Amino acid sequence: MKKSLDIAIAGAGPAGLATALYLKRAGHNVTVFERFDEPKPVGSGLILQPTGLSVLADLGLLDDILALGSRIERLHGADASTGRMVLAVRYDAEPGGRFGLAVHRAALFNVLFRAAQRQDIAIETGAEIETLDVGERAHLIFDNGRKAGPFDLVVDASGSRSKLRQCLNDPAEPRPLTYGAFWASLGWRDGFDENALLQRYDKASVMIGVLPIGRPQSGAEKMAAFFWSLKPADVESVRAAGLGAWKARLVSLWPECEAFTNQIDSFDQLSLARYGHHTMKLPAGRRLAVIGDAAHSTSPQLGQGANMALLDAAALSHALAKTGNVEAALETYARARRWHVRVFQLLSLALTPFYQSDGTMLPFFRDRLVATIAKIPPVPGVLASMVAGTLIDPFRRIGLKEADWPDHPAGSRSRETNFSPAGIDSAAADSRVPRRP
Ligand SMILES: Cc1cc2nc3c(=O)[nH]c(=O)nc-3n(C[C@H](O)[C@H](O)[C@H](O)COP(=O)(O)OP(=O)(O)OC[C@H]3O[C@@H](n4cnc5c(N)ncnc54)[C@H](O)[C@@H]3O)c2cc1C
Repeated sequence: MKKSLDIAIAGAGPAGLATALYLKRAGHNVTVFERFDEPKPVGSGLILQPTGLSVLADLGLLDDILALGSRIERLHGADASTGRMVLAVRYDAEPGGRFGLAVHRAALFNVLFRAAQRQDIAIETGAEIETLDVGERAHLIFDNGRKAGPFDLVVDASGSRSKLRQCLNDPAEPRPLTYGAFWASLGWRDGFDENALLQRYDKASVMIGVLPIGRPQSGAEKMAAFFWSLKPADVESVRAAGLGAWKARLVSLWPECEAFTNQIDSFDQLSLARYGHHTMKLPAGRRLAVIGDAAHSTSPQLGQGANMALLDAAALSHALAKTGNVEAALETYARARRWHVRVFQLLSLALTPFYQSDGTMLPFFRDRLVATIAKIPPVPGVLASMVAGTLIDPFRRIGLKEADWPDHPAGSRSRETNFSPAGIDSAAADSRVPRRP
């Protein structure tokens, strides 16, 4: 293969920036095109799983992100009225010292963006890509009619609403999911577990979540991502009933959350996230690779999206390094990611209705089954590897080594020996929350 390829990357999200770092490191000429005038992160917080953290480690950025995020050791959900456990996952149910790292989106963005700046990667902003013109090589066409290129390869990392995907025969558009969520980044408050994602449910139609997300940048205050699931179709009626009514409902289900609702003075502080689901059969075409949410989007119930995007970036660069030409690299990339992506997309699609839907049957079974089976081996280990993203080995086929997990990577460990998650009294917590041996 020609040593140095001219490569255009559409989108400066996690997928685009990680790909740019990998490909620049491999000696290619890389330009990132981003539609925002100022590159910026969108949204509140997310959990980096051992998969995504391994990609960041491979890029030499693990310490930077660990310094900002909050180490997550377990996910715990309870029914709001009975306190019954309905979600219980511990990363340490599997050996190896794995954990999740919850981060503010700005933290992930800044770590990747600064690394891109350090490597002198060209980033063109205010560049809204419309389509692609592919001949011998490829040109990008922007909304103002401008043309850029020629490029040997275009990487579509422009997220779930990708326009470039249209250039392929099987564009697979996302199907909107019934439930979305209000999200807010708020100040962290003591009394909640700093090492856990905590959730409360009312059947599957209400899910309230508190995720400690560390700091957006060093020196800033610690923050929480706070979310409330709802149907986008219901947003207007919730707004019409007023902020007071919404807060009162929330606090009636989870009284300790007043510490967060007190920080919300207006609906403008809440962003509405809409979710869609799609999986491209073949995320590649002539001179075009599709990665991240552009190739596969889903609800964040399993917390894999950004991690899959980072794995895609690693897979594509590994394929380019290993094969003889762009076409072979695209085939290798698609093949290497096929099963991991398909299995996790299916799991996400199957599990989401247990936690976000209008039905009563699924939450009925969830409420009765989870508390019983979540503790019976091998279920804890299976759940841990499902959340970690390692149920199917994501590393070997993309030439990536799982990171070595440091002992105390992100602040102090959970105080769970004497900790009672907010909203559950200690005696009840003892029986419902699995403890570290
Ligand atoms: C509320 C919520 C919670 C989530 N929680 C988690 C979680 O806990 N863990 C997890 O792993 N994932 C989570 N996700 C999913 C995660 O955010 C996405 O999977 C991830 O951001 C995908 O990265 P990406 O780079 O592929 O796309 P994006 O992050 O969407 O980035 C795409 C970039 O492309 C740019 N762009 C778009 N169109 C164009 C165009 N035409 N021209 C130029 N530029 C363009 C955009 O401006 C953007 O910068 C969550 C998502 C949501 C909405």
